[in-house]
Amino acid sequence: MKIVGGKWSNWSGGVTSKPKQVVAPKDDVALAAAIRSTADTIRAPGSGHSFTPVCASDGMIVDLAAFTGLKSVNKEKLTATFGAATPLWAIGPALLKEGLALQNMGDIDRQTLGGVVGTGTHGTGRTLGSFSAAVAGFKIVTANGDLLNCTPEENSDVFAAGRCSIGTLGVMTEITMHVRPAYRLVEKNFLMPPDELFAKLDGLVRENRHFEFFWFPYADVAICKSLNETTEVAPEPRNAEEMYERGEKGSSQEKTFAAINAVLPYTPFLLKRMHQLFSQLMPGAPKVRWSSEILPSPRTVRFNEMEYAVPYAKGPDAIREVVAAIRKDRINTGFPIEYRSVAADDVWISPFQGRESATIAVHQYRTVDTTPYFNTCEAIFKRYEGRPHWGKRHSRTSRDLATVYPEFGRFQELRKRLDPQGKFLNAHLRAIFE
Ligand SMILES: Cc1cc2nc3c(=O)[nH]c(=O)nc-3n(C[C@H](O)[C@H](O)[C@H](O)COP(=O)(O)OP(=O)(O)OC[C@H]3O[C@@H](n4cnc5c(N)ncnc54)[C@H](O)[C@@H]3O)c2cc1C
Repeated sequence: MKIVGGKWSNWSGGVTSKPKQVVAPKDDVALAAAIRSTADTIRAPGSGHSFTPVCASDGMIVDLAAFTGLKSVNKEKLTATFGAATPLWAIGPALLKEGLALQNMGDIDRQTLGGVVGTGTHGTGRTLGSFSAAVAGFKIVTANGDLLNCTPEENSDVFAAGRCSIGTLGVMTEITMHVRPAYRLVEKNFLMPPDELFAKLDGLVRENRHFEFFWFPYADVAICKSLNETTEVAPEPRNAEEMYERGEKGSSQEKTFAAINAVLPYTPFLLKRMHQLFSQLMPGAPKVRWSSEILPSPRTVRFNEMEYAVPYAKGPDAIREVVAAIRKDRINTGFPIEYRSVAADDVWISPFQGRESATIAVHQYRTVDTTPYFNTCEAIFKRYEGRPHWGKRHSRTSRDLATVYPEFGRFQELRKRLDPQGKFLNAHLRAIFE
């Protein structure tokens, strides 16, 4: 977590806040005392990779740097317990030493475990759930300073809701994840024209452990990516520090991508040509790596993002409508649309609660106004019963969220019981939950 000159900022720079105080408790007891000590808004950021103001606080910000690292593994139950603020880039190498791995990961590994669990962060794979769905238990300090151990058997309602709760039920100190034996994946990339892709999509999603595609909306091909388990030899695993360095360095290709994105808003006549060029450049050669090294990619070009989960069967129509709207309104963006699949889960306000989903994500360069693009897309996502990703831009509030999240009312009641004064709510979260 970075605070410069008293100001907290998220990864894209689109959200900032000036907390009155920043506390860095060393353990559960000090954390509980800090929470009890204030009547102001309390937020506990992870690594600030959310695009929504979920971490903004003009009251207290809790720095969870002391709550990191692998605490224990249970090889019989296939679970591993981590300090809640452990970064994902450190989790892969720590588990690999034990012959274990996370079941799935998203696009990057810069976030903390508490952050990805807090927002229902996901990767792709029809049979694979989000980070929230893979939680086996957690410890949380609530608004009155109580430390609760939450599992399917103990504090089961807090367990059911807390696995995706945007940090509104308290501050998690430890999280236990379901894990599996370590595995290697082979990644393949290929281009496919959209009509052929949509004809084959369901098969591609079923036949591959992970399948996703990226579509530059003015291009006439989509970039497809599959990953499957393999016994082929993988290079020696990197250590945690190397994993970190790798994620921070931008390649020359990424630097060119950033530069083009900075000028595209002023050169709309280049859009189609650039989208065709990016599509041809993106696919790389097949490669084999351990799962924690190949699932995440470095993403150094900063952007803002909106993502919605729609019912799995409606995904193809929804993305085609988004692309048609972009082309009709001549919307200017230098980024592809990302399309993934996620298994259903039972976490109360997870975007995947009770429903197998397709996710559609739209991006805009960090300096470009997102309003016209994201408003157009959000109107389409709403028509497809879309549920917003809690860490990505959306404009939904308590007025309409219960229509797409069946357990929303139950979540609101539990949140109010655990935090009647709304200590863990800022203005953004108040609009969602009150
Ligand atoms: C480049 C990039 C790529 C991304 N790729 C994906 C992707 O592939 N899939 C996807 O689904 N999302 C993706 N995201 C979104 C991102 O995973 C989420 O926004 C995630 O929440 C960020 O994790 P973080 O550690 O930065 O959490 P933050 O953004 O800092 O916090 C998120 C929420 O979690 C809460 N929180 C954090 N720690 C705790 C804790 N210990 N106890 C209680 N609450 C806590 C915070 O209070 C906040 O409400 C991406 C974002 C970026 C910038």
